[in-house]
Amino acid sequence: MNQKLIQQLEDICSARGVRLTPQRRTVYELIYENKKASSAYELLEQLKISEPKAKPPTVYRALDFLLEQGFIHRVESTNSFVSCCSFGEQKHYSHLLICDQCGNVVELQDDTLIALLNSNVDKHGFQFSNHVIESHGICKTCSSLEVEK
Ligand SMILES: [Zn+2]
Ligand SMILES: [Zn+2]
Repeated sequence: MNQKLIQQLEDICSARGVRLTPQRRTVYELIYENKKASSAYELLEQLKISEPKAKPPTVYRALDFLLEQGFIHRVESTNSFVSCCSFGEQKHYSHLLICDQCGNVVELQDDTLIALLNSNVDKHGFQFSNHVIESHGICKTCSSLEVEK
């Protein structure tokens, strides 16, 4: 695991007055290191390697914390989790590109898109709590592999 990244994470937590417990940290590391988006079940299985006593609530509590702090995102359509590409910002919205073949998830940040979404919900007098923007399809790597076949 990237020590600099963990240090950054710890600095943000101490600045916010929240605690990055070893379990929260481990769950974050697992999500960060998994190439694909991770489900809670997969995370539990991986966590059990270092913490045999880990139970589902352990993972769910860690996930809640990480989501709340903006360190990870939930991929709503597949109920799995990915690490955020710009975790210092507590509340931001991103556009996720999800490859249905290899499971790779890329996070895009587009302020124009978010401004448009905000103005659309405003027009309806709607108080939003969250935007979910997910595009499904086949990533560049997978589609180039297909051509070679
Ligand atoms: Zn993000
Ligand atoms: Zn792919």
